Amino acid sequence: PFSNLSVIPLDPHYALKELFNADHDPKKVILGSGVYRDDNSKPWVLPSVKKAEELVDQAQDSARYEYLPITGYAPFYNAARDLLFGPFDEKAVHVVSLHTISGTGANHLGARFLSDALRPSSVWLSDPSWVNHANIWGLVGVTVKLYPYWNREKRVLDFEKMIEKLETEAATGDVIVLHACAHNPTGVDPTKEQWKRIAEVCEKRALFPFFDCAYQGFATGDLDEDAWAVRHFVERGTLEIAVAQSFSKNMGLYGERVGAFHLVTASPDSAAKAKGHLTRLQRGQISQPPTRGSKLATTILTNPRLFQEWLADLREMSSRIKNMRKALYEELLSLGTPGTWDHIVSQIGMFSYTGLSPEQVATVQTDNHVYILKSGRISVAGLNTKNVKHVAEGIDAAVRK
Ligand code: PLP
Repeated sequence: PFSNLSVIPLDPHYALKELFNADHDPKKVILGSGVYRDDNSKPWVLPSVKKAEELVDQAQDSARYEYLPITGYAPFYNAARDLLFGPFDEKAVHVVSLHTISGTGANHLGARFLSDALRPSSVWLSDPSWVNHANIWGLVGVTVKLYPYWNREKRVLDFEKMIEKLETEAATGDVIVLHACAHNPTGVDPTKEQWKRIAEVCEKRALFPFFDCAYQGFATGDLDEDAWAVRHFVERGTLEIAVAQSFSKNMGLYGERVGAFHLVTASPDSAAKAKGHLTRLQRGQISQPPTRGSKLATTILTNPRLFQEWLADLREMSSRIKNMRKALYEELLSLGTPGTWDHIVSQIGMFSYTGLSPEQVATVQTDNHVYILKSGRISVAGLNTKNVKHVAEGIDAAVRK
């Protein structure tokens, strides 16, 4: 029966990595996946995480390999919730939280739950969005539609078109996926005024906002500032929302798969019912999430000294990325590369949507061994003081071709 299956192309990130691995040129550079690298292109274990490892290992007892509850490790998802929402009035705001298999698991659990509970006619994703959003929502059988987000010519947020589309075409009960901060792939976020207007459209059209928060601390280096949009939607007191939260990037815990799903409901009764459904889904999907990564994250979030050290680690990562934006921008300016490149420094977070065409991306790859996704998105964290000139020269040559 399987011979009739269609052929599924490899995910673009993994396809790019395979090509990169097969290239043996010493100058090769990959700017694909959103993973942090230090100035030597090496993965970086955060010093705060190293200390958390020691504390977790010291505290290990014979129960360390026991199952967690289905909803996960409560100290973790409560601390994660507080980091995201900040202090809130528990009598007015009713939050259900579950510990998930990182941000992807939270997106999937949320998609499956919202698809069952709301029966939306469509889910609205930004054009473009993280590639896995359309995949996840397709897997749960909801029609995927796109709202304008990126203005290709001006290389800015296409805000008025976004609002117009949602106001005229989204149906009551549709889900709208929003990136809480550091939009992937464009690196362009709405301003606070624009977030308020998005919230108004959600209220007016009864759309259900589902935030994806994978970069808290990466956009501005300030955890509270990066959670502003989520908190604003909650503070309005008029909206029920969901959030998928990941600690892959901000704690560098990628492979540990540490994340949470949060649902803010209008009443304790809705929260209790939703919790039952979410727990049942989680039981069917994974039974219970893994332990160790969540203990590392909890140690950092609940130990005041480690928390301060983590803030310093976050600042180190976000400022290295900002410096690399600046370095690439300055190299392009000094080469006199045709076009405007201001967006490279004005965009935030891990990514820059360079505006390179697929043909230019292919040229940089063949001529300079620099691997970039076809969309022209680069992971700025892949740049360092040793390769930025080489990358800029590759871009320069491709643009002039
Ligand atoms: N959401 C967005 C927007 C992302 O960019 C990513 C990772 O690249 C994720 C979610 C999920 O990452 P993870 O499953 O590692 O938490």
